[in-house]
Amino acid sequence: MVIFKSKQPPIDLPTELTDWDWLFDSKYSPINQYPEDQLAGFQNAITKERVNWRQVKEASTHIATALVKKYGLKEGQTVSLFSQNTVWYPVAMFAGLRVGAKISGASPAYNVEEMTFALTTADAKFLMTTPGSMEVAAASAKAAGLPQQNVFLLEGELEGYTTVQELIRIGKSFGSSGQAPAFKIPPGKKNKDICGFLSFSSGTTGLPKAVMISHQNVIAQCLQIQQITPETQKKIMAVLPLFHITGLVHQMHLPVLLNAEVIMLPQFTIEKMLDVIVEYKLGELLMVPPILIRLVRDKIVDNYDLSHVTRFSSGAAPLSEEIIHSLEKKFPGTGFKQGYGMTESCSCITAHPPEKFAYKYAHSGGAIVASTEVKIIKDDGTEAELNEDGEVLARGPQIVMGYLNNEKATRETFDEDGWLHTGDRGKIDEENMIYITDRIKELIKVKGIGVAPAELEDLFLGHPKVEDVAVLGIKDDYSGELPKAYIKLKEGHAENTAVGKELIAYVKEKKVRHKWVKEIEFIGEIPKSGSGKILRRVLRDRERSGERGV
Ligand code: AMP
Repeated sequence: MVIFKSKQPPIDLPTELTDWDWLFDSKYSPINQYPEDQLAGFQNAITKERVNWRQVKEASTHIATALVKKYGLKEGQTVSLFSQNTVWYPVAMFAGLRVGAKISGASPAYNVEEMTFALTTADAKFLMTTPGSMEVAAASAKAAGLPQQNVFLLEGELEGYTTVQELIRIGKSFGSSGQAPAFKIPPGKKNKDICGFLSFSSGTTGLPKAVMISHQNVIAQCLQIQQITPETQKKIMAVLPLFHITGLVHQMHLPVLLNAEVIMLPQFTIEKMLDVIVEYKLGELLMVPPILIRLVRDKIVDNYDLSHVTRFSSGAAPLSEEIIHSLEKKFPGTGFKQGYGMTESCSCITAHPPEKFAYKYAHSGGAIVASTEVKIIKDDGTEAELNEDGEVLARGPQIVMGYLNNEKATRETFDEDGWLHTGDRGKIDEENMIYITDRIKELIKVKGIGVAPAELEDLFLGHPKVEDVAVLGIKDDYSGELPKAYIKLKEGHAENTAVGKELIAYVKEKKVRHKWVKEIEFIGEIPKSGSGKILRRVLRDRERSGERGV
């Protein structure tokens, strides 16, 4: 058996604590380690609204009390968070966690159809949103059968909706003896058995699924990353969306453990981000490839003095050789690190340890994190040795519980021996570093966000002119990848630019921006296997050969 093991010391993992108790009511909590004036917190970089950890604890306790006692939230139910980045997002998340609810994050860009799917798939009973997203939130809550009184506002005000501030007031009115008690792990169970989060991922195939993430998964991942985070990391810019696993772990949990200030950017624009980096004199920048691409290409960056930036951190999608090279050239003297993983591994399987924070190692996704094992399976089904390429399998305490209500997909992705089959190709070298070489699974990564080809294929099949379809990711300079659709039209319809444009507009009308197709190519027949499975590899080869569509 060729198993690559982490070279880091194993983490000391608490198995009886809930996520809430661990961060707010145990010896690990910064609240129990630092005086009030040294407590970091979440702050809005634009409005300067700020809550330190003690205030987060207090506010989320009151919100939890109001939700349980007045609105009937029960242990195990799902609370959906549908919002741009705001300091009230983590407060609401911790409120739900305190009383044993599951938290499900959804992209604030979703339309009604997508949000209804998210609510029903996660079986959400409560929804928290912001005024800007209320139109979609209200319509999808109605479609998913949620009463209006279970829809709350994280910030702002709107007639007919209870705000988080109101929930805090209601919770307070129960007094300290009337607070909803913190959920405890039931006897005979461990924190690995309790699902705390439902995040969306399409995994290796099919439609998006709700990934069940346990309290232990998040605790383990935070401890794994803490071990390789320098003590100096005291300010973390939260520019990535909070609903994604990177946001959940690196922008809302890990900072509490590190007592590091989270500087939140509600909406991304390159100017706002640069202003914030300079204003807060940020040292390490947690980013994704599309933002790094803009940093090296956009002229506006030259107007800013970024000499205080010490290190760039990337993850969630591959970063090209060219960008790594340009970054090093444009920001000499900086360090670099990466993380590789997926929602199903609660973020990182590998990440750079401090001794490897250098451009020399930038092409690697990092070293295997603590208490984690990796196995590489070659095309012939045997286990790879060092530097041999194959599918990456991972095992460790951060590997999630499975997919909600989807036994089949769970069995296909998580095997009996505890290995997660990532659907990525890669290899491990002598220094225990991973190199991701290709993607076997169907996933398309647009600006670091996953798009499931099956979702777009389903949509196209509902169009009256489409007979058959296959969707693939193609390279794009700015987004990393964008979807491309190969379409076989029904008889009697001409393959011309007008129909191509009509189909592109059809997706724009029905789906959120990052799912929009870049290109349509008409094809006589979609290549399929004997069992009817789309042969994506054939299309990929066709793509590489340079044929272009509409
Ligand atoms: P998600 O579940 O949205 O985080 O997507 C996970 C997938 O993103 C992985 O399975 C990879 O295909 C890709 N990915 C994540 N991090 C990296 C990385 N550092 N390098 C290359 N691909 C990555």
